[in-house]
Amino acid sequence: MKITLIPGDGIGPEVTNSARRIIDASGADIQWEIVEAGASVLKTYNTPLPDHVIASIKKNRIALKGPITTPVGKGFRSVNVQLRQKLNLYANVRPVKSFEGIPSLHSNVDFIIVRENTEGLYAGIEHNIGDVAAESIRIITKEASDRISKFAFELAKNENRNKVTATHKANILKLSDGLFLKCAKECGSHYENIEFEDIIVDAMSMKLVQFPQNYDVIVAPNLYGDILSDMSAGLVGGLGLIPGANIGDEAAVFEPVHGSAPDIAGNNISNPTATILSGIMLLKYIGQNKAAQKIETTLHKIFREGKHLTRDLGGTLSTEEFTNEVIRELLKQ
Ligand code: ATP
Ligand code: MG
Repeated sequence: MKITLIPGDGIGPEVTNSARRIIDASGADIQWEIVEAGASVLKTYNTPLPDHVIASIKKNRIALKGPITTPVGKGFRSVNVQLRQKLNLYANVRPVKSFEGIPSLHSNVDFIIVRENTEGLYAGIEHNIGDVAAESIRIITKEASDRISKFAFELAKNENRNKVTATHKANILKLSDGLFLKCAKECGSHYENIEFEDIIVDAMSMKLVQFPQNYDVIVAPNLYGDILSDMSAGLVGGLGLIPGANIGDEAAVFEPVHGSAPDIAGNNISNPTATILSGIMLLKYIGQNKAAQKIETTLHKIFREGKHLTRDLGGTLSTEEFTNEVIRELLKQ
């Protein structure tokens, strides 16, 4: 099966290369179609997101993508946001799971953040009011709120999870977040076996830090989902560990939650796990469960033993050495 691969910026090329090598070694049936986007193509195409990149994803319908930096102050909109909007990738799915053997604030954490991916503050409608103020327009629609709520409940149902928690700020944003909450609640009434609760996002932040084990599926408007997912990464060992999927009806793009990490780019020390786990999500999405399972089992084993870790997890291995170790273990299976 043909899959689009976008290496991306910063640590993107090293983490996607690692994931690609591991997926290839797992015996998955995948042919990669590599297309470049981001800072490296800006000069050639005069845009960080050339049309042929969008065309490749539309054709193959599935992509694995590294992080892409948005050039600051050059008038370009975020490539990530553009991709999500152009391909209507309305659901951003971010599983937060603690690994046995990885030092972290909490153990037995296993929840999924479902972030609305197309509107809210990310609609990108902003203007100056003279030089005295600036205004951003935050749009919440019934259509997108219904759609993301349904996605969250269906995900809970398919993964045998018991509860969906909607997070919002409807006490202050009575109309916009009020609408989001109303849609989530209404949607929940159609799922008898799944509990529904709602929590304002400030309280949610505290509770997630104290009792992350209490959550199963969390559904949130765009910005809250973004902030809660980085925070959640911190609960289980850091950004190097959290994968993500951007899912729409026509296409799906899998990518780590972390950004391009320019501070460590090019040093061969980044942790490719978030991208490898994104690859596992991709394999499951296209029905290649056997390969996905093989990689998952291998990672769990390596983390449990705790001998072969990258620096962000307190180890000493380079990106490449860690990748080699995963492949060595994988081939034993
Ligand atoms: P961007 O603007 O592209 O989001 P950023 O500077 O915000 O880049 P992030 O990638 O979002 O950087 O991550 C913040 C910090 O977390 C990084 O500076 C880096 O030190 C660390 N980090 C993120 N991802 C990884 C990783 N895969 N392996 C190791 N460290 C990471
Ligand atoms: Mg960042």
